[in-house]
Amino acid sequence: MAGSTPRVGVLALQGAFREHISALQRLGADAVEVRTPAELAAVDGIMLPGGESTTMDLLLGSSGLREPLAAAVAAGTPVFGTCAGLILLARDIEDGVEGQRTLQVLDVTALRNGYGRQVKSFEGPVALASGGADMVGVFIRAPRITRVGEGVEILARLGDEPVAVRSGSIMAATFHPELTDDDRLHEVFLAGIANTSGE
Ligand code: GLN
Repeated sequence: MAGSTPRVGVLALQGAFREHISALQRLGADAVEVRTPAELAAVDGIMLPGGESTTMDLLLGSSGLREPLAAAVAAGTPVFGTCAGLILLARDIEDGVEGQRTLQVLDVTALRNGYGRQVKSFEGPVALASGGADMVGVFIRAPRITRVGEGVEILARLGDEPVAVRSGSIMAATFHPELTDDDRLHEVFLAGIANTSGE
């Protein structure tokens, strides 16, 4: 893809995909919705949005996207999961529903609804490991990262807790960076895609 604008897919089966499309477009990316294996095959990177991980799990099955998505991620296609998207990537989950599957590609444990079922939503100051001003983190029935595997880099914290991580070509955040106009994590993701596609 050298020289061309990276084409970034946003999994659009369910959840907050439109806001990710807007954030990626603000940064100049060619952002497209992905609902089919053919659409997935045409992108250089893929975002997994927030929403409801149990529903997305079922829709990954019925859309035929589960295997091609797992294969793309295993082949090094950059992926960025937010909130439910982080749950889809996690190696282990706590408080999943019976039979809930994940891609098991990111070595963290995610506790679903980790701030309690009552706490539907809150905003908190997210400190980026790269420095600069805090981000406003919008947490909506967010998961909590309760274990970070060796080799998983912490990109951001809320207090002492990791809330954004990276492992190779895989990025994930427990909050919703697409719901503010602070696009710094999307920028990191796009930089990773540019490196992978040889620009
Ligand atoms: N609690 C949701 C889940 O388990 C995630 C919430 C979100 O993505 N905003 O999927």
